[in-house]
Amino acid sequence: MKAWENNIRKVIPYVPGEQPQQSSVIKLNTNENPYPPSPSVEKALLGLDLDLLRRYPDPSASELVCSIAEFYGVTKEQVFAGVGSDDALAMTFLTCFHSNQPILFPDITYSFYEVWADLFRIPYQKQALDGEFYIRPEDYAKKNGGVIIPNPNAPTGICQPLGQIEEIVKNNSDVIVVIDEAYIDFGGDSALPLLKKYENLLIVQTFSKSRSFAGMRIGFLLGNPDLIRYIQDCKYSFNSYTLNQTAITLGAAVMRDKEYFDQCRNRIMETREWVKTKFLELGFSFPDSMANFLFVTHPQFAAETLFMALKEAGIYVRHFKKPERISNYLRITIGTREEMECLVSFLNTYMSENRSESC
Ligand SMILES: *Cc1c(COP(=O)(O)O)cnc(C)c1O
Repeated sequence: MKAWENNIRKVIPYVPGEQPQQSSVIKLNTNENPYPPSPSVEKALLGLDLDLLRRYPDPSASELVCSIAEFYGVTKEQVFAGVGSDDALAMTFLTCFHSNQPILFPDITYSFYEVWADLFRIPYQKQALDGEFYIRPEDYAKKNGGVIIPNPNAPTGICQPLGQIEEIVKNNSDVIVVIDEAYIDFGGDSALPLLKKYENLLIVQTFSKSRSFAGMRIGFLLGNPDLIRYIQDCKYSFNSYTLNQTAITLGAAVMRDKEYFDQCRNRIMETREWVKTKFLELGFSFPDSMANFLFVTHPQFAAETLFMALKEAGIYVRHFKKPERISNYLRITIGTREEMECLVSFLNTYMSENRSESC
């Protein structure tokens, strides 16, 4: 190693799912929404004043922030908008987890948490999920520097009851408890009503999954105004103009179209329930997902073998080699009904042709 390399910050980066460039693949590997964004986006895009692009965008992204505040019935001082929830989460880690005590999060969860903790030198302690992949609320009652939990959790899809979330928030009144609700729009109960009661609660949501807008990169935080201001101060000390003008305008258009939002997420939930019945028939087992994906394992077919066979057939799903406990699982995004019929039919054929060798 060269001398200068001793003075470099070295990190092991987060590895996102593959983004194949051919459009012919059935892409069920990154939990994107299979439906296009709200039709109001095209109108807003055509109406975009190009002169605005000459200028810096509104650093407070107020048009977008107001649309979010209105949708959730909170004030705009309770909203922070970021470049995807990844940006909002990174700012949250930087601002809220500033303690010598370890922060707590599940051992099987969104793997970016560990990356940010390492990047910002935040001590952390992972809490093991139980045998059925559930979070044990009592694990989060010990002394800590903050808590972050996705609900529903990824990649399991399990949604913990709101009473348990409240218990965790209540037991940690001297630190910030972050609930990552990236998948809450697919049937779970949001912690939003708890915001009135607990100042230490911070909710994270994203436009990437339920709002079909992963490409535009918009995520947001909901919390008490003082906490939001602290996070804003950190953001303004890092990069003032994070969201671009196009994202601000189009994001607000997406947020205002509640009818389309409900239509898409309902369709995905319906398809998910149908896929559950088909996957049970195929012999898979999986936790009862409340997200836009299923986390499946099969007693006869190794996850990695299925992953490769599916990929060869042009169907991309996600396989995590680590941690060991989930290496025989696949995380499969819920696509359109047609895409899922294709998947089920491929698996049906593949499994009947290969069953004898595998047993
Ligand atoms: C997808 C996801 C995010 C990040 O979404 P963005 O595209 O950055 O908004 C955050 N948390 C979890 C648990 C996710 O699955």
